[in-house]
Amino acid sequence: MKLPHVDYEAPQTVSEAIELLAEYQDDANVLAGGQSLIPLLALRLAHPAVLIDINGVGELSGVSATDGWVAIGAMTREYVAEASETIADAVPLLAAALPLIGHEAIRSRGTIGGSLAHADPAAELPAVARALDAELVVRGPSGERVVPAAEWFEGYLATSRSPDELLVEVRFPAAGRGTGTSFQEVARRHGDFAIVGLAASLTLADGAISDARLAFAGLSDVPVRAVDAEDLLAGEAPSAELFDEAARRATDDLDPPADLHGSSDYRKKVAAALVRRGLRAAADNADERQ
Ligand SMILES: Cc1cc2nc3c(=O)[nH]c(=O)nc-3n(C[C@H](O)[C@H](O)[C@H](O)COP(=O)(O)OP(=O)(O)OC[C@H]3O[C@@H](n4cnc5c(N)ncnc54)[C@H](O)[C@@H]3O)c2cc1C
Repeated sequence: MKLPHVDYEAPQTVSEAIELLAEYQDDANVLAGGQSLIPLLALRLAHPAVLIDINGVGELSGVSATDGWVAIGAMTREYVAEASETIADAVPLLAAALPLIGHEAIRSRGTIGGSLAHADPAAELPAVARALDAELVVRGPSGERVVPAAEWFEGYLATSRSPDELLVEVRFPAAGRGTGTSFQEVARRHGDFAIVGLAASLTLADGAISDARLAFAGLSDVPVRAVDAEDLLAGEAPSAELFDEAARRATDDLDPPADLHGSSDYRKKVAAALVRRGLRAAADNADERQ
């Protein structure tokens, strides 16, 4: 399908991009990797008057580690993040999720910031950001603000970013000693969006769980943290019985949407299986990182 007519701007700096966003506001869409936006344009599901293409803004790409955090520029391509040793060492949950996004061709254009700004509830990176309490850094005409992941995702493809703000960076806390992680998902075919996905992280200290994090993709219009299950796990020694109970608590109150890919009940059963599987894998990895 051909794209509709749309004006085009190609800023070379963050300041220029913000000036353009301030001028066009809701009439503009930022163009990053285009892997979600271009199909939306072609299907006439997005109708911007102007595209602000940030592919030429070099300062938005890169991965750096400081003070227990890993900062990733919004325009960092998914395949670049996938190959980053810094991310593999310090944010293993993100490293595990990245190869599950679409196919190599998608990841060679798609960006970390694009995935989080698009906020598809079935996508991997929003669930990772929620599980790890990532911070999203946005810049607009009145300066910079840091948004916790818990306040970023507001609904289906909706975030708390204002129309005149650019997502410039995402920060993930580095995993400490004894932290094991796992990203689990069920999709119809390799490379498809997950029917259900789970980001899991466990920290073990002296044989007990000192920190547990579980966030689902595909069960609501935003990524969902399983807080009751996390509370149950904290302070306990890992065991099959504990993980069974955590799976029950994580899914009992869920009412996931039904669609062509699965009923609500099917999604709940898959979610429970992923919790058991994810916790087992995270506990094994945690032992290795002691
Ligand atoms: C066939 C196919 C399969 C896919 N499978 C998966 C999958 O399994 N899992 C998955 O997670 N994703 C999947 N994707 C989507 C892919 O990961 C996209 O790359 C990603 O969702 C969007 O990133 P992008 O850089 O392409 O953003 P774009 O498409 O350029 O932009 C997406 C949205 O974010 C906004 N935006 C982008 N960057 C910024 C910024 N810095 N500041 C403010 N707003 C911004 C845009 O305006 C737009 O609204 C798939 C895509 C395709 C085509």
